[in-house]
Amino acid sequence: MEKREKLYEGKAKILYATDQPDYVIQYFKDDATAFNAAKKGTVDQKGVMNNKISTKIFEFLQSEGIPTHFVKHLSDREMLVKKVQIVPVEVVLRRRSAGSLCRLLGIEEGRKLKNPVLEFCYKRDDLGDPLINEDHIQALGLATPQEIATIREYVFQINELMAKFFANLNLELIDFKLEFGRYKGNIILADEISPDTCRIWEMGTGKKLDKDRFRHDLGNIEEAYQEVLSRISK
Ligand code: UDP
Repeated sequence: MEKREKLYEGKAKILYATDQPDYVIQYFKDDATAFNAAKKGTVDQKGVMNNKISTKIFEFLQSEGIPTHFVKHLSDREMLVKKVQIVPVEVVLRRRSAGSLCRLLGIEEGRKLKNPVLEFCYKRDDLGDPLINEDHIQALGLATPQEIATIREYVFQINELMAKFFANLNLELIDFKLEFGRYKGNIILADEISPDTCRIWEMGTGKKLDKDRFRHDLGNIEEAYQEVLSRISK
C-alpha cells in the first residue's frame, strides 16, 4: 500500500490517499482541541494510543456485525480505512448526563438517564456543531430518512455492544460520538472511537479516563488514555 498526497487535515487526524482509490490512510495526531477549538494543546502519544484503541473497538464492532470503515492497523499512528463520503452529522449517544447535556438541561453531571438519548449535531465547526433534529437533517438534505433510520439502528446496537465491552473492563461508558459515511451505497461507521470521542469512567471510583481530563485540566491525561488502552489490550 503506497501512501500518497494529503487529502484532508482535521483537528486530530489527517487523511492520505493511497494507490487504491477505495482506501485511505487515517493518521492520528497528538493534537487536542476542546470547546469548538477554543482550547488547544497536545497530549503526548495520544495519536498512537487512539489508533490502537480505535483499532480494537472497530475490530470488536465488526466482529459483532457492525459495518465499519476499518480495514487494518498499519503502524503506530496509521490505520487503513475505506474511503467514505462522511455524512455531515455527528451522532451522540448518552447514557449518563455530562458535558453539553448538563448545560442544555440544567442538570448535574452523572445522572443516569432513564433511556439512552440520541442526539444529532450538524458537523459545522464555524457554527459550533449545533444540535439539530431529523427534520433539520431532511430539510438541508444532509441524509435521507432511510439513512437516518439505518444510523439510528446502528447507534443503538453499538451502544449496547460498547457498554458491555467497557463494562467487562470495569469501565463505564457515559456517552460517545460517532460519524458515519457512505461507501458503495451503504452507510458504514467511520471516523474514530477513542477517549477523545467517548466519556469513560472507572467503575467504583468514577475516575474520568477520557478527554474531560484535557477539557477541564484534570491532569494525568496520558495516563488515563494509557489506562484505557492497557485494559482493552489484555
Ligand atoms: N464529542 C466529540 N466531538 C465533538 C463533540 C462531542 O467526540 O465535536 C463527544 C464527547 O467527547 C462526548 C460526547 O461526544 O463523549 C458528548 O459530548 P458533549 O456534547 O457533552 O460535548 P462537550 O460540550 O462536553 O464537548
